[in-house]
Amino acid sequence: MDAVQASSHGSCMCGAVHYRVSGPLRPIIACHCIQCRKSSGHYVAATACPTEALHIEGDTLRWFASSPQAERGFCGRCGSNLFWRRIGSSSTSIWAGSMDGPTGLHIAQQMFTRSKGDYYDLPDAPAVPDGGA
Ligand SMILES: [Zn+2]
Ligand SMILES: [Zn+2]
Repeated sequence: MDAVQASSHGSCMCGAVHYRVSGPLRPIIACHCIQCRKSSGHYVAATACPTEALHIEGDTLRWFASSPQAERGFCGRCGSNLFWRRIGSSSTSIWAGSMDGPTGLHIAQQMFTRSKGDYYDLPDAPAVPDGGA
């Protein structure tokens, strides 16, 4: 585990939704799946934390059920993608690009590489097991 960061924070583009994470963050996983590509405009690089360590403020936060199993959090005013969570899970993924300042994180793994767009090269990171369907 990387060194514990006391607190990390971030926001959407317009600032109406902002959040703080108390405690460590997961190394980043890049996801090239179709849903991540559509919602982000490219591929997603996301960290994650226990949901109870994520403190969100801002009443423009909206959740979209992207599948029966998961939902995506975004700002209803500026459209920034911010979060992803599996229904019933105790952790929430956070789009790394929404974080403020240095994160100290790096892309450690990637998934759904076979769904990647044809216009970019994959980042230099191993694929997660069973994540390349
Ligand atoms: Zn916003
Ligand atoms: Zn994805």
